[in-house]
Amino acid sequence: MFTDSHCHLSMPELRAQLPDILQAMSQAQVDRALCICTTLEEFEDVYALAHDHDHLWATVGVHPDNDDVQEASLEDLLSRAQRPRVVGIGETGLDYYRLGERTVADMEWQRERFRTHIRAGRQTDLPLVIHTRSASDDTLAILREEGGFAPTAGQGSKLPAARGVFHCFTESMMVARAALDLGFYISFSGILTFRNAADLREVAAFVPLDRTLIETDSPYLAPMPYRGKTNTPAYVPWVAKQVAELKGLSVEAVAEATSLNFEQLFNRVPATARSVMI
Ligand SMILES: [Zn+2]
Ligand SMILES: [Zn+2]
Repeated sequence: MFTDSHCHLSMPELRAQLPDILQAMSQAQVDRALCICTTLEEFEDVYALAHDHDHLWATVGVHPDNDDVQEASLEDLLSRAQRPRVVGIGETGLDYYRLGERTVADMEWQRERFRTHIRAGRQTDLPLVIHTRSASDDTLAILREEGGFAPTAGQGSKLPAARGVFHCFTESMMVARAALDLGFYISFSGILTFRNAADLREVAAFVPLDRTLIETDSPYLAPMPYRGKTNTPAYVPWVAKQVAELKGLSVEAVAEATSLNFEQLFNRVPATARSVMI
């Protein structure tokens, strides 16, 4: 019934307790999860999860925060995207939150990496899983430039426009509008349940239900009442519950809609039989 659109089950703290997590997911009616890749080095582990479990799926990508890892060429992404259980490209995007000694100008490698992922998304027509932190202007600007939204006579104009989701959304209403205008979905994590997230709850109330996804981003960001503990996909119903409260809907309706949205965006995932709403 529930779909976790973004988790990191390949990370050691979750991978070590996988049987327990899978059982907790089943008890919580979380019957699907997307395992997100953050480095090429990690890809085979992420893929193995999807290969071994019918209800787990995988992406391929290099997270913008990872600066001491193998860089992904377009070919690296395209070849892995051909594997049957890869359903998206990412996570990718821009993150200027941990600049340290560096300036935004120093982050050209990150912008170039993001462009490569957008190209891979367009060439495969797979959705992008976008991570943006303290970098929304550049994220949107690069997406507009590279994403094929303006009709141009240039190279790549025959490819489909980029599509995807802004994951673990924590940005403003303006950024949400801009993402929606580009046809993107918006995914909310456990942050939505935090006491100090009133602005974000306003954004979630505004985002149309048919463009909303839910996720855990586990092992990070456990929703209330588990804040501070290790997160797992079994906690995604708490995010659904918060979205339901904000929109005046039942949890079942939010579970249903976000699962359907997941299938429509990650359209290599087959539709599952769904209980009829009465
Ligand atoms: Zn992220
Ligand atoms: Zn993530």
